[in-house]
Amino acid sequence: DRINVAIDGPAGAGKSTVAKLVAERLGYIYIDTGAMYRVVAYKALEDGVGPDHAAEAVRTAERLSIELRPGQQRQQVLADGEDVTDAIRSASVTSKVSAYASNPGIRDILVRKQQEMARKKGVVMDGRDIGTKVLPDAEVKIYLTASVEKRAQRRFEELPEGSTTMEELREDIARRDEMDRNREHSPLVQAEDAIRIDSTDMSIEEVTEKILAICSE
Ligand code: C5P
Repeated sequence: DRINVAIDGPAGAGKSTVAKLVAERLGYIYIDTGAMYRVVAYKALEDGVGPDHAAEAVRTAERLSIELRPGQQRQQVLADGEDVTDAIRSASVTSKVSAYASNPGIRDILVRKQQEMARKKGVVMDGRDIGTKVLPDAEVKIYLTASVEKRAQRRFEELPEGSTTMEELREDIARRDEMDRNREHSPLVQAEDAIRIDSTDMSIEEVTEKILAICSE
């Protein structure tokens, strides 16, 4: 029988890389919920609606159609039909997304969409509140973490040379962690029944195999 797999954890712990591989191996659908928050932030910024304009930002989220298309190399992200796969990874979106994600109205809209996407089971969903809020009944819950230093280093290696410094990345990660952990609605916490994996000294393959083993238990 198909199950749902929830993978939560702080920024840069390797969630999306591992979640994608686990989904591939299981023949499941991978859903990157961070991309959905990024799309809302991107659209709102484009419309000149800052995160402090809570009600207007919620309306942006309401009106928006978000589509996640599984691709060969990576998932394609569409906002009202426009390909925003690269645009949602920009530094300006990255630095603002957590402020939009602390808006409970925006969270409600996206959580409902995510629950709908997982209704038929067979999804691997990564985010911050999947095991606690979006899919509390997920058969497998993983909390994936790593040291701040290691997470900054991994991000650094992913990005084009000269685009940023390790110091900047460390700060950005620490700042987003802080906002995600301390927000009032659905803060980043480990679900009671989640299995914690610290990937600081593990390879992607090791983490993937470990999660697959848990899935087949
Ligand atoms: O996963 P990613 O780093 O792309 O997520 C971007 C931001 O979206 C996070 O820093 C967090 O503020 C927010 N987010 C969230 N809940 C989720 C997924 C992401 O609040 N389920």
